[in-house]
Amino acid sequence: MSKRFEIAYLLKSNIDNLIDTTINIKGWVRTKRGNKNVAFIAINDGSIVHNIQVVVDLANFDEELLKKITTGACLSVDGKLVKSMGQGQSVEIQAEQIEVYGEASPEDYPLQKKGHSLEFLREIAYLRPRTNTFGAIFRLRHAMAFAIHKYFNDHGFFYLHTPLITASDCEGAGEMFQVTTMDLNNLPKTEDGAIDYQKDFFGKQTSLTVSGQLEGELGALSLGKIYTFGPTFRAENSNTPRHLAEFWMIEPEVAFNDLEDNMNLAEDFLKYLIRYALDNCMDDLQFLNNMWDKELLERLNFVLNNSFVRLKYTEAIDILLQAKKKFEFPVAWGVDLQSEHERYLVEEHFKCPVILIDYPKDIKAFYMKQNDDGKTVRAMDVLFPKIGEIIGGSQREENYDKLLKRIEELEIPQKDMWWYLDTRRWGSAPHSGFGLGFERLLLFITGMANIRDVIPFPRTPGNAEF
Ligand code: ATP
Ligand code: MN
Repeated sequence: MSKRFEIAYLLKSNIDNLIDTTINIKGWVRTKRGNKNVAFIAINDGSIVHNIQVVVDLANFDEELLKKITTGACLSVDGKLVKSMGQGQSVEIQAEQIEVYGEASPEDYPLQKKGHSLEFLREIAYLRPRTNTFGAIFRLRHAMAFAIHKYFNDHGFFYLHTPLITASDCEGAGEMFQVTTMDLNNLPKTEDGAIDYQKDFFGKQTSLTVSGQLEGELGALSLGKIYTFGPTFRAENSNTPRHLAEFWMIEPEVAFNDLEDNMNLAEDFLKYLIRYALDNCMDDLQFLNNMWDKELLERLNFVLNNSFVRLKYTEAIDILLQAKKKFEFPVAWGVDLQSEHERYLVEEHFKCPVILIDYPKDIKAFYMKQNDDGKTVRAMDVLFPKIGEIIGGSQREENYDKLLKRIEELEIPQKDMWWYLDTRRWGSAPHSGFGLGFERLLLFITGMANIRDVIPFPRTPGNAEF
């Protein structure tokens, strides 16, 4: 067998020295067409959105073998690499030897070449990476994960691994998945009939984390600049195109940053990621632009080249109150903004990404820095076109007494928070951070409309298949 080359290499590199030599490629058949004398087989190996064409002179091959070459089958092909006469491809392979690794019967292989709906592909999520669309999405997902690590590493941040199993509810939302090894049919009880969590694996009630932030703050108050990048779990029973029960979150946390610094970091970081995608993933972006969202590239460039609007929650409420548009959820000072409000501000009013700050304290988490007005906190949400909230963050309350008072007001159990409070007793410092939902970022980068289509195996209410 000859030396194998990946298709991305053959289509993207200077391969003059390989022309007219015999090479090997391996991959899956996308289409096969032809006539009595020759077959044209388009092969894709996942390394790039494009296929390579294999030309088969039927006279040279056994009929039984040729019958096995159908859409979805996996082949190893040896052949001469030649410059292509055909349109749309620079090189092709004249087959000399073909081995069929795995057949895919046309009777039952679900991915025949006709176009499939995203809904149908979700039902066969285990096969959808074999489509051009999901190949492009998952290559972009990889590229964005890499770019995130690169950005932080290049800017002197340290990657901190925060725990996935936790005894504290960071967001105070109570939307947590419990973690237990107790027998649910035979729960140990205390004398007063409550569940005896002392008998559970960790000796206390535990859950999957909704955020790594609290532990991230400990990292920032020692290493200076940290970020987390890991799975996050929320048992919110909301079946929306923007929520998953299991998603990935990136959470930078920086000592000595105030809210202004935090906003600058968020804007710089998002723009870096968009630029990285445009510079490194144009084939996949172009494909998605042509296939699914004709404004994708335009939108990416627009966000890259314009400053984000920054304004206070109170100002945003005034704008929404004056809007001619009828909202499903009524607007008043103090309400949490719904996606329709966020998207109105971004898509219709400012026509630009918006960073909203200084939210009412009652709709934000306990740890946010309190403003002097007694009503608002130093929160910031970054709102994006088509997405709504992509980032949520804040300057943190560094004052022990103020933080403790807020914890008491909200009746947050202190027994789980003592270590967090201690950071404000010893060497406390101003600090800020935010959380970027990785899949929300990918919705923006890929132009996909449903968050289930940017993660390989989505977890949503009622669905944990594959
Ligand atoms: P939303 O209001 O959209 O439900 P949130 O305010 O609950 O979000 P945060 O707690 O601020 O979200 O989390 C930080 C970021 O994590 C959000 O800005 C968003 O990008 C992402 N995120 C939050 N919840 C989810 C989810 N269920 N699925 C996917 N991403 C999420
Ligand atoms: Mn938020």
